[in-house]
Amino acid sequence: MMPQMSGYEVTAKLRKNFTLIDLPILMLTAKTQLQDKIIAFEAGANDYLAKPCNREELLTRVHTLVQLSRLNNELKRVNLILEDKVKQRTEQLETANEHLEKIIDSRTHLLANIAHDLGTPVTVIQNYLQAIHSGIIEDDEREHYLQLAYSKIKILNRLITDLFDLSKLEAQQFQFNFRQLTVCDWIAHLQEKFELELIQSKRQFTFQTIPIATNITSYLDEQRLEQAFSNLLWNAVDHTLQGTGEIHVSVTVDEEKSEIKFSFTDNGRGIDDKVIPFIFDRYYRVKKLPEEHRGTGVGLAIVKEIVQAHHGTVWAESTLNAGSTFYITLPIQINE
Ligand code: ADP
Repeated sequence: MMPQMSGYEVTAKLRKNFTLIDLPILMLTAKTQLQDKIIAFEAGANDYLAKPCNREELLTRVHTLVQLSRLNNELKRVNLILEDKVKQRTEQLETANEHLEKIIDSRTHLLANIAHDLGTPVTVIQNYLQAIHSGIIEDDEREHYLQLAYSKIKILNRLITDLFDLSKLEAQQFQFNFRQLTVCDWIAHLQEKFELELIQSKRQFTFQTIPIATNITSYLDEQRLEQAFSNLLWNAVDHTLQGTGEIHVSVTVDEEKSEIKFSFTDNGRGIDDKVIPFIFDRYYRVKKLPEEHRGTGVGLAIVKEIVQAHHGTVWAESTLNAGSTFYITLPIQINE
């Protein structure tokens, strides 16, 4: 009975923009014929009530329709959250998949290279020995050739140790033996060890530490951490030159964060920004390195595994042709 536009037309217009669930419409009309009801539903009404109507009945029907609409909104909200979760999960899976593909790829690459990396030094050693044996080499040259053979054996030894560690890492048989240590004693011991270890490297080595209070301890596996530090130090040696190479270790303590921080800095060849995110991956190694610097790409993966087992963090910063710094943080306890 409205002027200009009937209730049916209003309903039909509203339905162009709103669905039955988004905007429920209840028609209140004096018309009571079956045909009228059909027209109302066809126009898009959700419900229909004839005038005069009972107040309670009207309120109950309105209440039901409002409830329905609210429920629908809630469902939409849950649906959006779910969609978001599915999207996030899919992205995570895609990243994990890419990561796995990269590892499989470098692994295939590594296996193809192992035969070459192990085979070349063996052939060289064999040739030296044969030459010495058959007297081709003069007495005064013998020492030089023995040194060459020795350096090749060292390369072989490192490769074999890395591969052995790798197989344990893969089988998750890496055993840890944690102990509570007084940090200042441990650092003094590390300094001595590093200095001794690096004497033969002919690199300039410096070690700097702040004074550390005697009530600071840490729960750690000394041997495993030495292995991690040693990997970083020998990488620094490998990527610097004899004579000009400088390696600097620094130790600081952040009492507020309850952590000790080590930095291993070298002035060597550096690492390209683009590959830094991958250097801690198993089997990853920078391509096109000279043969004597080619490892198995396992050293830093082992470092990461050891540091993470200590609930610590490890990361690297580097500038190509200027040098690299590797950082390690480990948790400490400050005792009363
Ligand atoms: P690898 O045993 O092959 O050296 P790592 O896992 O120790 O493998 O290192 C991964 C890659 O990171 C190597 O290919 C190496 O070139 C690069 N890298 C590691 N440490 C340094 C460093 N101090 N300076 C330059 N490059 C480095």
